[in-house]
Amino acid sequence: MTPDFEAQLKAASLRVTKPRLAVLAALRDHPHVDTDTVIALVRADHPTVSHQAVYDVLRALTTAGLVRRIEPAGATARYETRVSDNHHHVVCRSCGAIADVECVVGHAPCLTASNDHGFVIDEAEVVYWGFCPACSEGN
Ligand SMILES: [Zn+2]
Ligand SMILES: [Zn+2]
Ligand SMILES: [Zn+2]
Repeated sequence: MTPDFEAQLKAASLRVTKPRLAVLAALRDHPHVDTDTVIALVRADHPTVSHQAVYDVLRALTTAGLVRRIEPAGATARYETRVSDNHHHVVCRSCGAIADVECVVGHAPCLTASNDHGFVIDEAEVVYWGFCPACSEGN
């Protein structure tokens, strides 16, 4: 289930390495996890991959655009492999759970500024905040 990732790495001029494939596979199966979780997932299957290697891989893949880094205010950075669209996220204020929200417009910027002040605007950062089903139960 990795030929896809190999092609992506090659297209981004990155060498295909076991840690890179492992990180991409972990993020495909577990979107929106933080660095510590990526490390745990990768090392469960590849115990020889160091913490530092995972940090380095996350940075390289994010820079290359193969991984998207999301940083909800006040939360630790999370990573995902879904990079090809302009989707948004809903974040639970209580437990930090994150889910994808399809963009109703589908491309950035999906909000038109009431006054662009002469800027050429290419993105509106949209994050939905609230409480997930588990956390809103009984509140
Ligand atoms: Zn929650
Ligand atoms: Zn997402
Ligand atoms: Zn949108």
